Amino acid sequence: MKKQIQFADQKQEFNKRPTKIGRRSLSRSISQSSTDSYSSAASYTDSSDDETSPRDKQQKNSKGNGDFCIKNIKQADFGRREIEIAEQEMPALMALRKRAQGEKPLAGAKVVGCTHITAQTAVLMETLSALGAQCRWAACNIYSTQNEVAAALAEGGFSVFAWKGESEDDFWWCIDRCVNLEGWQPNMILDDGGDLTHWIYKKYPNMFKKIKGIVEESVTGVHRLYQLSKAGKLCVPAMNVNDSVTKQKFDNLYCCRESILDGLKRTTDVMFGGKQVVVCGYGEVGKGCCAALKAMGSIVYVTEIDPICALQACMDGFRLVKLNEVIRQVDIVITCTGNKNVVVRENLDRMKNGCIVCNMGHSNTEIDVASLRTPELTWERVRSQVDHVIWPDGKRIVLLAEGRLLNLSCSTVPTFVLSITATTQALALIELYNAPEGRYKQDVYLLPKKMGKRDTHIHMSTGNPRVQAKCKFTS
Ligand code: NAD
Repeated sequence: MKKQIQFADQKQEFNKRPTKIGRRSLSRSISQSSTDSYSSAASYTDSSDDETSPRDKQQKNSKGNGDFCIKNIKQADFGRREIEIAEQEMPALMALRKRAQGEKPLAGAKVVGCTHITAQTAVLMETLSALGAQCRWAACNIYSTQNEVAAALAEGGFSVFAWKGESEDDFWWCIDRCVNLEGWQPNMILDDGGDLTHWIYKKYPNMFKKIKGIVEESVTGVHRLYQLSKAGKLCVPAMNVNDSVTKQKFDNLYCCRESILDGLKRTTDVMFGGKQVVVCGYGEVGKGCCAALKAMGSIVYVTEIDPICALQACMDGFRLVKLNEVIRQVDIVITCTGNKNVVVRENLDRMKNGCIVCNMGHSNTEIDVASLRTPELTWERVRSQVDHVIWPDGKRIVLLAEGRLLNLSCSTVPTFVLSITATTQALALIELYNAPEGRYKQDVYLLPKKMGKRDTHIHMSTGNPRVQAKCKFTS
């Protein structure tokens, strides 16, 4: 189930900021994706000793520009190196930059963005800028900002309002600073999670008169857009990047194939060879997880409710089971169904001592974690994102990220995959911004497979000169 986006108290006055304790105790009213940690954004230069809120600091880059709010501008050089490293693994985006920067398809575009502020996003923002756009950016997640990258962007002249560990009040303040500027109005929205879109809907609905379109990346944000569309309240065209073929076929499958191992290893140091693993769901994400674990020598069982996917699991050499058949013997349980209550208390009660339980699906209700919050069970936090849940007889299970997305909570996500998604976002912006009147109505669209009057070829070099996938976008 997707958590609905709610809004912070509308009476909230940003200048009357709560005390530190008050900030912590603010009720959660930002979307789930805004609070799920996303450690691919792990900051390498975090100096936790600097407790001063960026909002209380004087912000100025070396050119005297202060239209940003970040943790520490002195980290800019380090952030620049991070961005350069990311560029090497983002060939599609770099190719788009190179090919279209002469043409400037985003000239005049004023893009307001709300995404994870990472090195990969920086490559996207600098590409949009090279294509002619002006950008103002906030973070879509209070934990995910790479402070050094935000510093490099601010030093480069971007108006970035984000730092790692924002309070909820900070979160909305940053978004507001992006959109609420005298003499500047956005005409495009690039959102991840829907919070920015809904902030504008709630606070500045008139802005939609100038906005040409919304590009949304996440499941949650897309869900909100469809709700708005159904209610007849969507006032501009929106592009659903989440369900685009370029995201589904790469992000869900290949990203998960790599990051499942990373997430499990970082949290548990488990040896995969010889371990018995059950993967619930054999969709794109499940296929990726199964392939990775099989390659590492794990014995992989699959549960599936869809006959076609079940048959695919068999054809790929996995043993199809009911969860109950194997639950006593497996060492690792992974859910990736997009469904809820796939692993319930009864299953958790029957698991063996030391069983690792985690989720790769979007929602944190695939595993019924709430059912473990009962007085007879003891919770012990053993590492960041790792809890031991202990039964009265001493049996313990190892619960990762409290049932939230394992890879986004505990590991990194491959830059190459993010490049494909970021390129899709950039192309969606170009398409919506340049679309002739009437091509798109006030509805949610999937990016056309064939796209772009400019017959743009985006090369997705795999690093192997003999293997170069070409995506051709033509209309
Ligand atoms: P999908 O629809 O391709 O696959 C889900 C599969 O789960 C389907 O085959 C379905 O039949 C099966 N299923 C549903 N309920 C089940 C149950 N109770 N028991 C067993 N099988 C069941 O979806 P997908 O692309 O694989 O995505 C799965 C989830 O992962 C979604 O929530 C998606 O948002 C999320 N996702 C996560 C990441 C990540 O990085 N972790 C990336 C992309 C998508």
